[in-house]
Amino acid sequence: MDDCIFCKIAGGQIPVTKLFEDDHAVAFPDLNPQAPFHALVIPKLHVASLNDVRDPMMLGRLYGLAGQLARSKGFDVTGYRTVINTGPHGQQTVLHLHLHVLAGRQMTWPPG
Ligand code: 5GP
Ligand code: ZN
Repeated sequence: MDDCIFCKIAGGQIPVTKLFEDDHAVAFPDLNPQAPFHALVIPKLHVASLNDVRDPMMLGRLYGLAGQLARSKGFDVTGYRTVINTGPHGQQTVLHLHLHVLAGRQMTWPPG
């Protein structure tokens, strides 16, 4: 999608430090990190939100990459959190599906 910032990141028009990439997805650091480690995992295909996912394999691929990323950083030992915000109440601000991977500090529950 032309005016989608995450499509531009996936397509290489906006440069980012790619932490992980495969044929379907890419992971990169969040611009405004909420934890010592905060990455986003996005599908290369534009899908606005979880509501719009029609191929559940897409989610499997995102979570698979998130797990690989976390293991590569040693967070499989200390733990980490994965989050998908959806819609206004979920406080989704970028309308291209993304999985947050947060780690490096003690998380709290319930989330705000
Ligand atoms: P949401 O609130 O939609 O769940 O998360 C969007 C995330 O994207 C936010 O954590 C925000 O910091 C991040 N973000 C927004 N624009 C950019 C950008 O241009 N580059 C990067 N790396 N992250 C971004
Ligand atoms: Zn997009």
